[in-house]
Amino acid sequence: MARWLFLIAGVYLLYRWIKGKNSTKLNREDALKSMSDKAPEILEPEVMVPCQYCNVHLPQSTAITFEQRFYCCEEHLHELDIAGWIGFANWRPSPNYDVRPENIQPDLVVIHHISLPPSEFKNKHSSHYIVDFFQNKLDPNVHPYFAEIAGQKVSSHFLITRSGELIQFVSTLNKAWHAGVSSFLGREKCNDFSIGIEFEGDGESAFEDAQYKTLTALVKRLSASYPNLQFAGHSDIAPDRKTDPGPFFDWQKLKKETEISPKNLPYGVTFR
Ligand SMILES: [Zn+2]
Ligand SMILES: [Zn+2]
Repeated sequence: MARWLFLIAGVYLLYRWIKGKNSTKLNREDALKSMSDKAPEILEPEVMVPCQYCNVHLPQSTAITFEQRFYCCEEHLHELDIAGWIGFANWRPSPNYDVRPENIQPDLVVIHHISLPPSEFKNKHSSHYIVDFFQNKLDPNVHPYFAEIAGQKVSSHFLITRSGELIQFVSTLNKAWHAGVSSFLGREKCNDFSIGIEFEGDGESAFEDAQYKTLTALVKRLSASYPNLQFAGHSDIAPDRKTDPGPFFDWQKLKKETEISPKNLPYGVTFR
């Protein structure tokens, strides 16, 4: 009888031992499984980019991206950087520039108009031809007028397209080739001391509100870096040769929206 009891007890212990072993195995598998569920993801290191304006490095996901450039904040996107380029402009560098004479800072803004081919902006978006022209890439075969002008080497600091897009070609630290033979209140060679702004358009139609809006933002920014800027049309400084920006450019609107002092508009605000 005792032998039977020992045998039953032995079988029972064996059963407990095997069961215990299995449950340990299961527990270990559960633990491993839950560990793998909870294992921290291997994160890609965040790409760091420098702010174009202040050079602070920040994660790309938090930066403001404009064209291929990064900015740490809206304020810096709207700044003129130390190299003379404005953040919110599209940059299309032109080779047509030279350095300003020593110790000369711009104190004049010259307003122009341009459209290529002439007046064609009315039918289609054609501002890319102006970009080509200022970058010496205009294809003379596209239009008879292009064949006439393709060899000219000219530029401007800025172009404001019909939709109000701002394009910059030359740093404000440098001299763009926009004014030609010119005289501002007795001072010749206006390129030396001026910033050129082209309005896409012609002398026969009004400019767009979006263009004035961009001009206002640009003038406010430029005035912060170059205090006491004066304003003139190309026709004011080269009256024998030029008629732009023409009778549809609204000087009164420019004055009102930018709060330019009348003394900085020496040719007045009349249409001309
Ligand atoms: Zn910044
Ligand atoms: Zn002009």
